[in-house]
Amino acid sequence: MSDQHHGGPSTEGRPHAFETIAIHAGQEPDPLTGAVVPPIYQVSTYKQDGVGGLRGGYEYSRSANPTRTALEENLAALEGGRRGLAFASGLAAEDCLLRTVCRPGDHVVIPNDAYGGTFRLFSKVAEQWGVQWSVADSSDPASVREQIRPNTKVIWVETPSNPLLGITDIAAVADVAREAGARLVVDNTFASPYLQQPLALGADVVVHSTTKYMGGHSDVVGGALITADTALGDELAFHQNAMGAVAGPFDSWLVLRGIKTLGVRMDRHSENATRIAEMLSAHPKVEQVLYPGLPGHAGHDVAVKQMRAFGGMVSFRVAGGEEAAVEVCNRTELFTLGESLGGVESLIEHPGRMTHASAAGSALEVPADLVRLSVGIEAVDDLLADLARALG
Ligand SMILES: *Cc1c(COP(=O)(O)O)cnc(C)c1O
Repeated sequence: MSDQHHGGPSTEGRPHAFETIAIHAGQEPDPLTGAVVPPIYQVSTYKQDGVGGLRGGYEYSRSANPTRTALEENLAALEGGRRGLAFASGLAAEDCLLRTVCRPGDHVVIPNDAYGGTFRLFSKVAEQWGVQWSVADSSDPASVREQIRPNTKVIWVETPSNPLLGITDIAAVADVAREAGARLVVDNTFASPYLQQPLALGADVVVHSTTKYMGGHSDVVGGALITADTALGDELAFHQNAMGAVAGPFDSWLVLRGIKTLGVRMDRHSENATRIAEMLSAHPKVEQVLYPGLPGHAGHDVAVKQMRAFGGMVSFRVAGGEEAAVEVCNRTELFTLGESLGGVESLIEHPGRMTHASAAGSALEVPADLVRLSVGIEAVDDLLADLARALG
């Protein structure tokens, strides 16, 4: 496997820009055929040239597979990291990270607004293995600092967060982590590396559900870890192989294919979401719009500082409470009622009853009148008309 280095490839010393890296990093044309995209190496094992004579380091596809290698090198280059690792799902990636960096008795600070499955992993699984956790408002670095204990190993941050679109100042929390001798993990799923680069801001590890914007077409479930340093990357790679929840060849290929258009998609997602957030802000049936691109959003200034644009996720609170919110979700036609996010098609959901039902009764419970949109890349006028109709 080729060496992965900061910033990915370059021409005559001039580093390539993100869109170029997205299309080319890890993806030299196939030496045998010249195929311009990495083939799907749908294979479990590899002929050895004499015992231990591996070709290109490949011996068994849990340990490494060329299609997955292409994706892993691409991911590392996109995030400006040393090492990228691809998993069967975002939660498989999170589980591998947790079990690599935490031991029984260790403590993790988690945000009060996180993906429901992340919260469930800490509260229902890791806790049973003796990993302690406490909750901070990560939009306030002082709140994170207050939760630090002598045994704190990890500070976990999600920005923008799911589903409340809260913004964390990554550089400020990286300072808190450094002081505490803890690692800063940033779930970069909502922003994608096109909009935000946590490693450059001081994070140690980036987590992705590649199911979302990286894949971008609602046709694959996957996850990724990208590390700033090689030593942690190697430890994670050991655990990835030892625990085995790797991304398969076809899934890796789908994510790689999605990534080629990540930049243009994120531009359009962000443009469409901005228009929709503005329309909803002026709508009498909407109590509050949560979108970091709106100047009134509590995290707007930090978002401006650390993001290229504000992404495709918009949440809003419906006047009339839970039933009214559910009603809006049931009435849209173009916005498809469903979980997940980040695809080219627009989705709508009720977090309290759907994606975040597992946080009910906890510090991460979400408001009952909340609706979450994953704004797709359809023509924005069609999306605006659909929402206006559904709001009545
Ligand atoms: C979906 C999601 C995950 C979990 O990823 P899976 O691929 O569903 O396992 C983690 N974090 C965020 C922010 C997500 O949206």
